[in-house]
Amino acid sequence: MDQYITTLLTLDGWEVMGLEETATGWLVTVDAPHPAHCPHCGHPTLHRHGTLAPRQVPHGAVGLRPLMLTWVPRRWRCAACRQTVCPRPAGLRPWQRWTPAAQEAALILLREASFRHTARLLGVTDGRLRRLVDRVVPTADTTWWDQPGDLVLSLDEHSFRGPDLLITIALHAPDRRLLALLPDDRLHSLEAWFAAIPEAVRARIRAVTVDLKRAYARVVRRWCPNAQVLADPFHLIQDANRRLDEIRRLEQAESRTAIPRWPLVKGHEHLTPHQHAQLAEIQRRWPTLGQLYHLKEDLRALFRAQTPAEVRQAWERWVINAEACDHAEGMAWARTIRRWRREILGHWSQPQRWTNGLIEGYHTKIKQLKRLSYGFRNRDRYRRKMFLGFLPLTAIPQLLT
Ligand SMILES: [Zn+2]
Repeated sequence: MDQYITTLLTLDGWEVMGLEETATGWLVTVDAPHPAHCPHCGHPTLHRHGTLAPRQVPHGAVGLRPLMLTWVPRRWRCAACRQTVCPRPAGLRPWQRWTPAAQEAALILLREASFRHTARLLGVTDGRLRRLVDRVVPTADTTWWDQPGDLVLSLDEHSFRGPDLLITIALHAPDRRLLALLPDDRLHSLEAWFAAIPEAVRARIRAVTVDLKRAYARVVRRWCPNAQVLADPFHLIQDANRRLDEIRRLEQAESRTAIPRWPLVKGHEHLTPHQHAQLAEIQRRWPTLGQLYHLKEDLRALFRAQTPAEVRQAWERWVINAEACDHAEGMAWARTIRRWRREILGHWSQPQRWTNGLIEGYHTKIKQLKRLSYGFRNRDRYRRKMFLGFLPLTAIPQLLT
């Protein structure tokens, strides 16, 4: 039985002397075994050489309550080389104030919980958890460099705090994962990230989806010579809805009549009967808004094209319609879509449709992780804490080695 408990508590060879329930959790008293041989010279005879002051360290949690380990450090002296040894339990190193098991538990909990919650569960301070995250959690993955075959990436941005944005980079293929959270949204940071990737790996990047930023497209072209840069359909539709909504608000102010937003920005196939009626009314009273609405729906339809020929035709028709629109916005919009021609049509020369949907999902998860915490002031720690949330469980022990 004792043996099972020592295994369970990763206390290999140590003896459990007592278990005490305290006000905050569990206190396990352990004792060191007699060393089988001297670690310095291998001699089998060691003699007791006194004890040191008792020690106590956090060692994880049992039943959602902190578990503390306590022991009286014993010193032994080798009969041959006269050097002393002082064994420590549970893989503890001399300078460590909590065991590797406690640190591993902390990282596993922190993947989905706040610093505060984890600290309470393990009986350690928030500060100790923060220092652990700062020390061992990376902000980028490099293991994908070794993945064979073609690589497909996605670039997007998310908000660290208000208008303060960070670039998020994800891998689409051959497998899907978060690759990096850059420190900011500056081109310099993006270039630095690409520059760190070996040239042979960059040469295997066959496609990169980007949001509607020309500068990102340029950086990708510079660093990934064989990559097709693709405009993310999600961002194109988001941009369409933003334009539509802006004109809606202008018309609304001018006519002093409330114009409902949802019938315009929602996908046509998802409208309720009531919203269909509202849309018909909008189209009757504000025909130019109706035209812009059609452009938005046609743009959505464009992405349903099956063949390159079909999409080229749809694209040309769309641009002609936009330029013929009675509202000046049509011309501006056509300019944007023209500028992104190569990146839109490029989707049809890929074996499958890559979108930023993957990264949008990651951003939803980041928002959830952020909500658990009471805000982050330290940008670097924020990146590490978020990145930790995306690491597989199997990667956690490696962080501590
Ligand atoms: Zn010795």
